This record gives sequence, structure tokens and C-alpha cells, in this order.
Amino acid sequence: MSYDYDLFVIGAGSGGIATARRGAQYGAKVGIAEYDRLGGTCVNRGCVPKKLMVYASHFPSHFDAATGYGWSPVKSQLDWLKMITAVNDEVTRLNGIYQRMLDNSKVEVYRGRAALVDAHTVAIGDQKVTADKILVAVGGKPVKPSIPGIEHAITSDDIFNLKEQPKHLVVLGGGYIGIEFACILKGLGSEVTLIIRADKILRGFDDDIRSEIQEAMQKHGIRILNNMTDLAITKSDTGLQITVKQADNAEETILADAVSLAATGRIPNLEGLGIENTAVEVDGGAIAVNEYSQTAEPNIYAVGDCTDRINLTPVAINEGRAFADTHFGGKSRTMSYENVPTAIFTTPEAATVGLTELEATEKYGEDKIKVFRSRFRPMYYTLPNHDEKTLMKLVVNTDTDQVLGAHMVGDHAGEIIQGVAIAVKMGATKAQFDATVGIHPSSAEEFVTMR
Ligand code: FAD
Repeated sequence: MSYDYDLFVIGAGSGGIATARRGAQYGAKVGIAEYDRLGGTCVNRGCVPKKLMVYASHFPSHFDAATGYGWSPVKSQLDWLKMITAVNDEVTRLNGIYQRMLDNSKVEVYRGRAALVDAHTVAIGDQKVTADKILVAVGGKPVKPSIPGIEHAITSDDIFNLKEQPKHLVVLGGGYIGIEFACILKGLGSEVTLIIRADKILRGFDDDIRSEIQEAMQKHGIRILNNMTDLAITKSDTGLQITVKQADNAEETILADAVSLAATGRIPNLEGLGIENTAVEVDGGAIAVNEYSQTAEPNIYAVGDCTDRINLTPVAINEGRAFADTHFGGKSRTMSYENVPTAIFTTPEAATVGLTELEATEKYGEDKIKVFRSRFRPMYYTLPNHDEKTLMKLVVNTDTDQVLGAHMVGDHAGEIIQGVAIAVKMGATKAQFDATVGIHPSSAEEFVTMR
């Protein structure tokens, strides 16, 4: 049977675009559908605009540190609208680049919401196309928790469109997105209160990292209310009132402007996708796939956040490219989920690769794990006399000497851990770390001098 396309991709985000282009490079005839801007969450409402705002948020601290190095004090004010406009202009520039990249790869772009009609047919509005293989890469969307008054809260999607800087932002949720925005807004000069249900931010990350970031956030003036229950939001003439109950049942009311950010989670974006017209199965709200990203409908595949494996841009891209290599490039391969590094762009930044201390202990037993830690004030902060700390940690298997995990909180943690991740992925031993000559003076050299 002949089809319009060898591959049709639903969703032109990180995973979808990478797969479409890779497939087309191998000579496949590829179409892709997108109802929103090209680039998906990462480019339009995630990694990119967020990181630009992270950079913006660091300037007050640089201005402050400068005086320690002999510069006269800098007086500077943020023009929020100018900053947010510049961020959005950059996003628009990237949208154009994606369009050109798809055009150059001869991938045909369909503008509109796509739905599965059957295993080989996709409808985009009134148009229908057929394809030998279909890749679903529809990503995720934020969910608001079901609490009274939540309709008054915005999500991370909306923050990039705020015309005015919130004076007081209340962030709900201690996941990485929530705490990143808490730090960004604090750095930009807003008052910030973070409300979390647990006792600590960043569930699932290494415990030392969680404590170090939480303490640093508090030191920077972010108010963190933990173990909170019974949250409710009401709107008044003066703004929003957020009430919460503390562990001892005492009630607390926080006043914010007309903005509180619900950063409590994301779910796969499967609405209206027509999954019910196929044999594709959904498990826990996500598209169920095997290690080749294949669904229960043999010619339909899914990658990225809609499969809820590890929800990061490089993972979605890698899953997609593995699929394209396997089916169009004659190189059968699967994505490896071991030792995927990740960064948290808080202030201070954090990054991590491999097992946490707890995961390593559970896997190998406490007596087989040795932990190396180093906590110090980086040289940059000595002259300004800022009380900023960097924490580095290695988790090592004492039987094999293999470094199982590397974790860091401190400036440039993402840049540093990216390099360390290669060693961890290759199975490097602590002795090999120790045999590596450090770069002096740097913070990164601590990773090879911890004893
Ligand atoms: P997406 O990039 O979301 O793309 C899906 C696309 O499908 C979207 O463009 C959507 O409009 C389209 N679509 C959906 N349904 C349909 C349909 N029916 N028809 C046509 N089109 C459809 N990851 C990192 O690695 N580093 C970070 O620093 C980072 N920061 C983040 C910050 C925030 C605030 C958020 C929300 C996410 C962040 N992420 C980060 C996660 C990252 O953005 C996602 O993991 C990544 O975008 C997933 O790619 P994807 O291809 O699965 O989905």
C-alpha cells in the first residue's frame, strides 16, 4: 500500500522536529503538524525563555560583587517590559530558524491541530494525510492543582507574557520549574514566597543538593513555607490572598499581587488526539511505549514528554533520533536512560548526573557506598565578601571504585556537570577522577581533588 508520507509527525517541538529532520536526512518523505509556534515547549515556554530570564536575574548580584573588585557602585533598574519583549523577540527569531530548518530538510509543515483517524491516517482540520509510520510528539501541558480559587493563578506558560513585574509572587510547588521561577523573580527584584507540601524542595534529587539549594534560596530572601496543606486562593480589590495551613494547623495568609504561579506539575497533552481511533494505549495519562518508542499500534511511535519517561529536551531529541536512525537510517538503536545529566537553573545553580546517595545505598547497600563532599566559598565571592557556597559530591561504589553519581550546587554547575557526566557515563572510577589533573584555580578542580 502506498501512503502520502513515509513518516508523519504530530507536534513540532523538541522531539518532533529532531525526528522529522533526521528522517528526512535519510531520504524519508516527512510531514509534520503543529498548531502553535514551531519549537514546542522548550523554545516557546520552557528552557530558552527561562534561561534568558535566569541571565537577567543575575545582574543585581554581579553589580553588587563588582564593588568588591573596586568598581564604583552601579545603580541600575530593571525595565520589565523591555526584558520580556527582548526575550520574546529571541523566541520569535528561533521560530523562524526552525521554519527554515524544516524547509531546508524538505519536511512539509502543516499548520493546525492534528488527530489520529486510524493507524495510518492523520486529520489536520479538513485535510487528511496518510503515512506508513506516525510519530506522536505532542509534549505536555501544565496542570493546576485542584484547590479553591486556582483559576486566579497563572502557570509557567503565562509568566513570559506578563506585561508588569509582579511585586509579590507566590509560587505553588517545589519542583524544578517552581523553584527556578522563584529564584528568577527574586533576582529580578520581586518579593517571593514559595509554598510546598513536602518538607523540602526537589523531591527525587540528592538530599544534600535539596538542602543546599533550599537554604541558599532562603538566604537570598525567598520565604519558603513547607509542609503546607489546605491551600486556597481568593481575589480581592488589592490582589490575591493565599491561605494555607501549617503542620501545627495554624493558618497563614499571604498577600500577593494578581499573580500566583501554579508550578505543580505537567501532564501529557493528549486531548483531542484521537488515540481512541487506534490501538495506542495510555498508561497513567502517558502514551505507553516500549524501548523503541513503539506504541501498541505497531506503526505508531511516541517520543518526548507525552510518554512521560524523562521529561527533558535532550531526552525527547535523543528518543526521536534513535527512532529515525532505527527505521530510516538502518542503525537500530534505543535511547539509554542511565546517567542522564540535568541542571536546575536556580540561584545558586545545581546539576546532577547518576545515582543520588539514597539510590546508590538502596541499590548496593550502605557499606558499599562512600560519599565524598566538598563545600567551600568560591574565589569569586571572596573579594565581595559574599556568603555564597558551592557544594560538590561524589557517590562511589567501594567494591568497584566506580563513580555512581556526581552532584553539584554552585555557579556554572550545569557547565561543569556536563563534562563530569561523560566520565560517569563511561564508568570512570574514583581513582581515574583522582588521576585527572585539575584546572587551577577553578571550582571544577574540586571534582578531581576530593579525598
Ligand atoms: P514539546 O516541546 O512540548 O512539543 C510538543 C509540540 O506538539 C508543541 O509545540 C505542541 O503545540 C504540539 N502539539 C500538541 N498537540 C498537538 C496536536 N494535536 N497537533 C499538532 N501539534 C500538537 N527541559 C530541559 O531539558 N532543560 C530545561 O531547562 C527545561 N526547562 C523547562 C522549563 C519549563 C518552564 C518547562 C515547562 C519545561 C522545561 N523543560 C526543560 C522541559 C522541556 O521543555 C520538554 O521536556 C521538551 O520540550 C519536551 O519536548 P517534546 O517534543 O516532548 O514536547
